[in-house]
Amino acid sequence: MAHAKISLERSLTMSRVRTRFAPSPTGTPHIGNIRTALFEWLFARHNGGEFIVRIEDTDQSRKVEGSVESLLESLRWLGMDWDEGPEVGGENGPYFQSERLDYYRAYTDKLIEMGKAYRFEDERGSAVKFAMPRDGSTITHDRVRGEVSFDNLLLDDFVILKSDGFPTYHLAHIVDDHLMGITHVIRAEEWLPSLPKHLLIYEALEWDPPEFAHLPVILAPDKSKLSKRHGSTSLLEYKESGYLPQAMMNFMALLGWSLDDKSELFSRDELVNVFTLDRVVSSPAIFNIEKLDWMNGHYIREMSGDELTMALLSYWNVVSPPGLPPGPDPKVLAQIVPLIQDRLKTLDDAAERIPFFFSDEFEYEASELIQRNMDDAETVSALEATMSAVSSVHPFTASSLEERLRTLAEDLELKVGQLLGTLRVATSGLKVSPPLFESLEILGRERVLHDVQRAIEKLSQCRDPI
Ligand code: GLU
Repeated sequence: MAHAKISLERSLTMSRVRTRFAPSPTGTPHIGNIRTALFEWLFARHNGGEFIVRIEDTDQSRKVEGSVESLLESLRWLGMDWDEGPEVGGENGPYFQSERLDYYRAYTDKLIEMGKAYRFEDERGSAVKFAMPRDGSTITHDRVRGEVSFDNLLLDDFVILKSDGFPTYHLAHIVDDHLMGITHVIRAEEWLPSLPKHLLIYEALEWDPPEFAHLPVILAPDKSKLSKRHGSTSLLEYKESGYLPQAMMNFMALLGWSLDDKSELFSRDELVNVFTLDRVVSSPAIFNIEKLDWMNGHYIREMSGDELTMALLSYWNVVSPPGLPPGPDPKVLAQIVPLIQDRLKTLDDAAERIPFFFSDEFEYEASELIQRNMDDAETVSALEATMSAVSSVHPFTASSLEERLRTLAEDLELKVGQLLGTLRVATSGLKVSPPLFESLEILGRERVLHDVQRAIEKLSQCRDPI
């Protein structure tokens, strides 16, 4: 039998904290999965330990192509590095359960020999069940919930090896956690009811169980199950919508953990420093998208101009925003960034109000140029006067433009808002745009004159239909 080649003894001594993220590759990673990974990673890093990634792909029917890649991409995006696992390898591999079948079969045989498990025939063949004790209770300590106790009588015998030769989660993760020297199993609350089964397998195999921490479920603000209508539940969709990894990490860290009642902003390093399991709560965590937006805006404002410029360019490389010409000039973008930085909630917001900086081919209706209490003739004269002011202002800076145009509004007996409203539409095609004078300075004299000329022509065409 192939068992001969594998060592059934663990070579590791568990002197260091070792946690693992053990996702099943069944689709795009859910916020809940990645929150679990984050707590496992933080706990390992806080304790100077190791973080292992193991892919639990024993349920062949639920496997989804591309899931492993998106799981790893999620970890990489958040900067959660792993010490052993796919791509990096390690001496306790393989790290895909489908490549570890010999181990599960060997331990199944052992349990059968010891009289703790038995074969039985199901409709497709022979499978193996673990024999539950019929009396007593199983008591353990959970790092989040304290003492938990289960009545053995309430649990039935359960399958550990299926007729297709693949193990169930119950057996496979125990064998792997033991052989990989995992010291702390941090996982979702949904596994708590199965904990007695797992502890009894440890006991049957005469292994010391790791410590367990079952993390609280994540609910929507109305306490219902988190679903699409409360915002996306897929982590990578947040990446695609322009959220920053540091905001996502900070936000997810607070889903079930807190340092105290008031601190909300934590950098990655701060989280590593302060994260402990005793501050994890057992009550449901509430997913509040407004808080995430606020946090994302905060992290955007914290970036230097260069950092935000780079972040936008790499974001647009992946997500080409509609309306923005491809490959925007980084030098121009670096000038625009300070004008928009304070108003952004996500990177995605940026593309909305800046395409006019990169192209003069924006569209608008001539009627949008005409401000309240003005007619088209007055608008044309205001634009003509603006032409001459813009041609002669020196230097061509935001402050001298401001001074000059404010005086012009007075001379024309217009409200400043009327004159600037027209100029805003003429130069950007927008009614709401980044600060006007600074924008004009970036556009430059020639481009502004060109836009104003175009606006005058647009209005004249309306007045003299051919
Ligand atoms: N494969 C299981 C899941 O994705 C792992 C649970 C665990 O962490 O033990 O839910």
